[in-house]
Amino acid sequence: LEQCWTTRRARGAVRRAMASAPDRALVRRAGRESEILAADVVVGDVVIVRPGERLAVDGRIVTGATTVDQSPITGESWPVEKFPGDAVLGGTVNGNCAFEMEASAPAESSASARILHLVEDAQARRAPTQQFVDRFARTYTPAVFILAIGVALVPPLINYQSPQFSMWFYRALMLLVAACPCALVISTPVAIMAALTTAARHGVLVKGGMHLERAADITCVAFDKTGTLTHGRVTVMDVVGVEGVSAHGVLGVAAALESRSEHPIGRAIVSHAKTSGVAVAPGDDFRALPGRGAEARVDDRDVIVGSHRLFEERRLCTPELHRQFETMSGRGETTVLVGRSGEGMGVISLGDSPKETGARAVAELRDAGVTHVALLTGDLQETASRLRESFDLDAVHAELLPGDKVLRVEELRARYGPVAMVGDGVNDAPALAASDLGIAMGTAGSHLAIEAADVTLLGDDLSKLPALFRLSRRTLRIIRANVAIALGLKLAFIVLAVFGVTSLWMAVFADTGATLLVTANSLRLISNSPNW
Ligand code: ADP
Ligand code: MG
Repeated sequence: LEQCWTTRRARGAVRRAMASAPDRALVRRAGRESEILAADVVVGDVVIVRPGERLAVDGRIVTGATTVDQSPITGESWPVEKFPGDAVLGGTVNGNCAFEMEASAPAESSASARILHLVEDAQARRAPTQQFVDRFARTYTPAVFILAIGVALVPPLINYQSPQFSMWFYRALMLLVAACPCALVISTPVAIMAALTTAARHGVLVKGGMHLERAADITCVAFDKTGTLTHGRVTVMDVVGVEGVSAHGVLGVAAALESRSEHPIGRAIVSHAKTSGVAVAPGDDFRALPGRGAEARVDDRDVIVGSHRLFEERRLCTPELHRQFETMSGRGETTVLVGRSGEGMGVISLGDSPKETGARAVAELRDAGVTHVALLTGDLQETASRLRESFDLDAVHAELLPGDKVLRVEELRARYGPVAMVGDGVNDAPALAASDLGIAMGTAGSHLAIEAADVTLLGDDLSKLPALFRLSRRTLRIIRANVAIALGLKLAFIVLAVFGVTSLWMAVFADTGATLLVTANSLRLISNSPNW
C-alpha cells in the first residue's frame, strides 16, 4: 500500500509537469493557420508558438529565436536561449519572442510523457537490494507461517490436557501479525521511488533502480568533450582555402555538406555560412562518419569534411593542406579539413567554450568518492589538453574513434574500478553502453546516446552529476537503515511473542509502526530544494 502511495506521488509530480502542457496548439497546414488539439498535432506540423505560451509538443525551431523556461521539465529555472535548429520541449514556456517550430514527436511521446514512462518503467526494473528483499520474503513468509502453526499446535499436543490451547493460539496469531514482512518488503522500493522522483524533478532521468544503486560504486568518470564538458555551441573562427580556392568557396561546399548534420561542428559551419552570406544548397546522400567527419554529394561531386586523421586514412592530405592544418590547429582550436573530388580544398577552425559548471562538478565528484576523472575525445590532443587544466582532469585521451572510446572505458575500469561515461553524441553511444553507468546529456544529445545511456541529464548543467552520486549514496544508506529497522523490530517481536510477553494490539501497533517508520525514512529522499 505504502509503495503504491509513493509511486502515486512520483507519478503526480510527472503528471503535474504533463498537465502543464496545453491541450491546444496553433498549427499551419497548407498555408492556413488554425488552432487544434495538441493530441492532433502530427510529426512535421509547423506549430506557431506565441510569446509566453507553453509548448504543446516537442520539436525544433524553424524560424525565430527566443528564450525558453525549461523548469517544468529540467528543473532549471533560468531561461535558455533557443535559435533556429534548436530542440524545444513540450511543457516548457516560451519567453518574449514568437517562433515557428516543426513538431518532432506527437504529444503523447513528448519529453514529459517520456518522463512518466521512464518513472513507470523504472519501477519494473528492480534494484539489486530489491531482488534480495524479494528473495528473502519468499523464504521468510512460509518460514514464519510454519513457525506460527508450530506455536499454535506443538505445546498443546505435548501437554494434551492443558487448558492453554487458546493461549497458544493467541500467541501464534500475534506472531503472524508481528512477523508480517510489510516494512521489509517496502524498505527498498519506497526509497528507490522517492530517490527517482527527486532525481526526475531535477531533470535527471534514471532508467531503473539498479542504475541508481550503481552510481554509489562509481570510482572513475570519463567525459566526452564537445557538448559535454564544452557547451557544444561551436563557432567558426577561421576559414582558409588552399590551392587557389577562396575561403567563401570552402565555406559554401562545407556548409552544403553539413546542412544535414546533427553534429555541433556541422551546425556551426552552416550557421557561419548563412551569416557570411554564402548561399547553401543542401547536398545529397549525407553520411556521418562518427568520430571522424562526414561526406556527401554536392553539385554531383564527392565532398568530405573531417579530422586530419580521416584525411590521412583516405590519403587526401596534401603537403599544402597539411601545412595549413598545422598552423591553424596550433592555436588549440578544433580544426577540420575540407576536400572535394579527392582534392584538398581548405581548412576550417572552430572554437567552443568550456562549461562554467564543469570545474566545480569535477571537484564535487571527487568529494563524492570518484578517484579518477578522464576526458575521452575525438578531437586533437592540443585542443583537449587545454581543458585538462581548466577542469583539473587526471587524464586526457584524444583522437579517439567511437570504438577507441569503448577500449578506453574498459582500460579505465581495469585500473580504477567501475566507470561512469558521460557523453552526448552518436560517437559516444558505444562507450555509454559499455560503461558501468552511461550518462547522456539530454537536451543537446542525440537520441542514440539517450537510448544507450542508463541516465539522462535533461539540462546541460554538469552539477547534476555529483548531486546524482550523492543521492545514490544517501539512498543506499537509507535502504540499509530501513532493512535494519524492519528486521530488528520483527526479530524483537518474534522473540517477545514466543515468550508471551506482549499483546496482540501491541503487535499490530509495532507492525504499523515499522512500516510507517520505513516509509517516513524513505520519504526524506524526496526533495525540491536546489541542493538535493
Ligand atoms: P568529441 O569526442 O569531442 O565529441 P567527435 O568524436 O564527435 O568529438 O568528433 C571527433 C572529430 O571528428 C572532430 O574533432 C572533427 O574533427 C571530426 N568530425 C566529426 N563530425 C564532424 C562533422 N560533422 N563535420 C566535420 N568534422 C567532424
Ligand atoms: Mg560529443
